[in-house]
Amino acid sequence: MTEERILIVGAGLSGAVIGRELALQGHKVEIVDSREHIGGNCHTERDASTGVMVHVYGPHIFHTDDAEVWDYVNGFTTFLPYKNRVKTTSGGKVYSLPVNLHTINQFFGKTFRPDEARAFIEEQADKTIADPQTFEEQALRFVGRDLYEAFFKGYTQKQWGCSPTELPASILKRLPVRFNYDDNYFFHKYQGMPENGYTEMIGRILDHPNITVKLATDFRREEADGFDHVFYSGPLDGYFDYELGRLGYRTLDFERFTYDGDYQGCAVMNYGDVAVPYTRITEHKHFSPWEEHKDSVCYREFSRACEPGDIPYYPIRLVEEKAQLADYVALAEREAGVTFVGRLGTYRYLDMDVTIREALDTARLYLARKAENAAMSTFLNPPL
Ligand SMILES: Cc1cc2nc3c(=O)[nH]c(=O)nc-3n(C[C@H](O)[C@H](O)[C@H](O)COP(=O)(O)OP(=O)(O)OC[C@H]3O[C@@H](n4cnc5c(N)ncnc54)[C@H](O)[C@@H]3O)c2cc1C
Repeated sequence: MTEERILIVGAGLSGAVIGRELALQGHKVEIVDSREHIGGNCHTERDASTGVMVHVYGPHIFHTDDAEVWDYVNGFTTFLPYKNRVKTTSGGKVYSLPVNLHTINQFFGKTFRPDEARAFIEEQADKTIADPQTFEEQALRFVGRDLYEAFFKGYTQKQWGCSPTELPASILKRLPVRFNYDDNYFFHKYQGMPENGYTEMIGRILDHPNITVKLATDFRREEADGFDHVFYSGPLDGYFDYELGRLGYRTLDFERFTYDGDYQGCAVMNYGDVAVPYTRITEHKHFSPWEEHKDSVCYREFSRACEPGDIPYYPIRLVEEKAQLADYVALAEREAGVTFVGRLGTYRYLDMDVTIREALDTARLYLARKAENAAMSTFLNPPL
């Protein structure tokens, strides 16, 4: 196979994994990132004063059922056991999340066994709602008003910036309650945290003689000239200079503070009450439970609409945004020599394991198409 010159925009997980797979096949890979560090939104760095490993763009917990992806990441770093156990403060009390048998018994002051709790929640459910249209109706139908107001209403309103009566029922797909004491947030078979953070792991993925990384470098479309192919993991609308308007995102503001000791005794404490302006507080030393630190670094997390210049975090993807996305996808399909990848390039929320799976599959598809002398796709999976 002839050696190609590949440009990759973004040194996050998408760019790093695609870059490595192509570099391993002898292609020359140049990666640019506008930030001053690699790792994208998974970036971690050790706080100089406390020694705590900080998840700079919000906490990242690795969880997957994909054995190949799990083996892949374990090839670059040691993963140590970590289970995400979230608590919530609601109405002046602390409860276990996701809503489970412990939460139900705490909240209603009961000692239910699983079957009793299930029957009790069924009694609470609002069965007059035959065909729920909104998030609120769906929640009321599943769990009834008391649990909805304590655990779903305020948090959802703060997270989305609108009333749950304005959100579609599809956001709450399944009954969001467990009738046992399992408080592990994720069901996945493999779960853990990289011993020395994600940035070290991604640095090792990028460590190949055929890869060069240029940080603090913004991509401009004219720079694609001279490259055989571009993999773009920046914002899809940004690639086209927002000519069809801006795709809607939620952004996050982190109010960082340090504490002399253990601030909240757990990694994640949600705040369900609307009167509390933040959605949660994360205490980063608890994401590395094998480490010992006297002092602490915490983030208060506020969610709001993303404005120009903010970091886009969560794609909104409601009806209006999907229509606009369809127009951007049509525009992208007309670009030759570019593949849009990752969470921003495809305007989807992607967990890290899915990001890596798609990056591996994208690189493989590219190599297969080259071998057949066929054109590479604009997207691996349609973003709609
Ligand atoms: C708050 C939050 C919490 C999350 N928690 C978890 C979790 O617990 N577990 C989990 O599995 N996943 C989690 N994720 C998802 C995870 O962050 C993504 O899977 C991952 O970051 C996707 O990697 P990426 O490379 O596609 O995108 P990114 O990490 O966003 O990387 C894209 C890179 O492109 C660069 N870039 C953009 N535009 C340009 C340009 N024009 N020129 C140059 N560079 C550019 C950016 O600077 C960035 O570094 C979370 C996401 C968020 C938002």
